[in-house]
Amino acid sequence: MIIDAHAHMYRNPKDLDRMVKSGIIEQVWLLDLSFYGDFVKRHWEKQSATQEEILEVAKEYRGFFIPFGYLDFRKPPEIVEELHSRGFIGLKAILPPKPYDDFSYFPYYERAEKLKMPILFHTGTIAPLPYKYKEDPKGLGKSSTNSRPTTLYAIAHSFPELTLIGAHLGFPWISEETVKVIQATPNVYFDFSAVYRVASKWLIEHLHYSTPLSDGTFGGFSDKILMAIDSSYGSKKSHDRIFEAIKYWELFFKFHSQWYTWGKDVDKIMRGNARKIMSKIVNQAERKR
Ligand SMILES: [Zn+2]
Repeated sequence: MIIDAHAHMYRNPKDLDRMVKSGIIEQVWLLDLSFYGDFVKRHWEKQSATQEEILEVAKEYRGFFIPFGYLDFRKPPEIVEELHSRGFIGLKAILPPKPYDDFSYFPYYERAEKLKMPILFHTGTIAPLPYKYKEDPKGLGKSSTNSRPTTLYAIAHSFPELTLIGAHLGFPWISEETVKVIQATPNVYFDFSAVYRVASKWLIEHLHYSTPLSDGTFGGFSDKILMAIDSSYGSKKSHDRIFEAIKYWELFFKFHSQWYTWGKDVDKIMRGNARKIMSKIVNQAERKR
């Protein structure tokens, strides 16, 4: 079983039962991309789910789909409380107009820490946006350097109770920045979604490195890495691809784990680390209901 810690959903999602009952996936973290609006409709396979749809499936398949709301830095910091009160468990940040560690963003992080909402930050290069800079009416950030892995460093140290997750291993800054950030912070995790080639090599080379843990002890990078695919749930075609991706990573770890000390930690990477992050939060949210 795996936990897919970085996923999205299409509007009018279909075929979800198959995923939930597959016995292959334990949980999926659904990251809201609805702010892309009509741009996505023109350029992607299907339009992104609305926030309401994400909250709905999270309710229908409680504990399976975990909803992450869009941390919109164009709105005042109270957006964090608003998303929390609507039922979002975590936050997803992407396309920041300023670097993530700009001091003006700290009020958002302060609120997220207080509400125990983990933040999944897109880190690394931004995929080409479906519009040119001058056409963008939305005021979203286009600079990939605003989301370099090292921008998580100051946030992690300023908010030690906040859980931060960097996406895509921070590619292309994976070998120095991402490594340094994991080595120096107990509360930053990274997912390896969407970057199959570089992740395959990086994992073999770095999973045995050591890192501080939140209980004051030390562990390995295998305690900080989350399995994730970065696909959209909600269509049969996409679900077939998700099962293929899971198969790829299962085989990858099966073949390589026998040669390395982190080999015993594969289950942590595939779901244990994500489960640890989420179990405390979801249990708390359940108790409040
Ligand atoms: Zn994504």
